[in-house]
Amino acid sequence: MSAKAQDHHKRLTAFMTEFVFPAEASYEEYRRAAGPDDHTVPPVIEELKILAKERGLWNLFLPSVSGLTNLEYAPLAELTGWSMEIAPEVTNCAAPDTGNMETLHLFATEEQSKQWLEPLLDGQIRSAFAMTEPAVASSDARNIQTTMLRDGDDYVINGRKWWISGAADPRCKILIVMGRTNPDAASHQQQSMILVPVDTPGVSIERSLPVFGWQDQHGHCEISFDNVRVPASNLLDEEGSGFAIAQARLGPGRIHHCMRAIGVAERAMALMIDRVTKRIAFGKPLAEQGVVQQQIAQSRNEIDQSRLLCHKAAWTIDQHGNQSREARQLVSMIKAVAPQMACNVIDRAIQVHGAAGVSDDTVLARLYGWHRAMRLFDGPDEVHMRTIARGELGKEKSAFAAAVTG
Ligand SMILES: Cc1cc2nc3c(=O)[nH]c(=O)nc-3n(C[C@H](O)[C@H](O)[C@H](O)COP(=O)(O)OP(=O)(O)OC[C@H]3O[C@@H](n4cnc5c(N)ncnc54)[C@H](O)[C@@H]3O)c2cc1C
Repeated sequence: MSAKAQDHHKRLTAFMTEFVFPAEASYEEYRRAAGPDDHTVPPVIEELKILAKERGLWNLFLPSVSGLTNLEYAPLAELTGWSMEIAPEVTNCAAPDTGNMETLHLFATEEQSKQWLEPLLDGQIRSAFAMTEPAVASSDARNIQTTMLRDGDDYVINGRKWWISGAADPRCKILIVMGRTNPDAASHQQQSMILVPVDTPGVSIERSLPVFGWQDQHGHCEISFDNVRVPASNLLDEEGSGFAIAQARLGPGRIHHCMRAIGVAERAMALMIDRVTKRIAFGKPLAEQGVVQQQIAQSRNEIDQSRLLCHKAAWTIDQHGNQSREARQLVSMIKAVAPQMACNVIDRAIQVHGAAGVSDDTVLARLYGWHRAMRLFDGPDEVHMRTIARGELGKEKSAFAAAVTG
């Protein structure tokens, strides 16, 4: 780590131990008392945001604002993964806002930035990104059916989206919506992105979908758009650039999830170690069983392999940009590896906890559910594997490969 990253790491570690971990109980208590379908914000979140900001632990994800490279940010995001529901948000480094801020940073006009990017960077509002639709296979963004048609000085939007993370949060004020502006254009140029304030007439948040039965605070919403009219000046970049914007947005967002997943896996590992040293079965601590030691060793191997791959991907983004062929390949690699690794480690931690592991008395079941879902969102595993395979198949033969294959 650079001296700058080390300094941030030290301060973030202190912030997490002094304020974030102790806040977990009150966060949980608030949400339990509010009920499973409540999406109001536990007060401790806004309290901690003030403290993080005062300490300069704010907007660390955005290189042009924080001055940190992606490689410097990776171990910091990992730390926040240890308290996944609180730490990313209170440092203003939570999805989907981070991806949305990146998008606005890259594509918004001065006016759009003033209205939406500035309050997001300041943590005053939250946002959501609306691409996926229930009616079509949305892992291929070219399938999107929502229409976004020009009518005078406006665009009129009609369609249905789902799994729109963050839209149930009362602080969510703006949606970045992907729709079709020109069905006759080439398949990558039919889509555009537009800014839609949540309170625009015709926008209806129908429900929030649970992940394995669990409703998180921000929600994952099904939203209908019924003749939603917004000014043409809300368009991001130009008509037909929606697919390209989605690609630019998803690169950093994907790797940030992976950085945090490594921290989550470390937490599961810590719980696993604690449990196996304290729990006695068949006359000795679980830790003395060879099979349990195998599980611990396998977990350590997988976590450290993932971290190295993640750092390599972050470094590659720093060197070549997130749109470079090298970076896209590595981001797909880590996105296919890290969520599966986290699932493996959490699953082993669940197993050594016995029945307690699948209850809500530990965080493990919820963490498992989230990382299982991560194998779908921001690109299902298979789509990333396809990218990786195509990269390999398209590579020019090395001299050695030519020598051994003819
Ligand atoms: C918790 C959560 C949060 C989400 N948040 C958001 C959000 O904020 N905004 C948003 O727009 N979307 C969000 N999503 C939606 C998510 O991005 C999509 O579910 C994802 O892109 C897959 O689209 P789909 O569900 O339509 O699956 P489909 O496209 O129908 O794919 C189904 C399955 O087909 C297989 N498959 C697809 N393509 C291939 C291929 N080329 N080769 C082999 N197999 C393949 C894969 O196994 C895939 O899982 C979220 C999803 C979840 C679960």
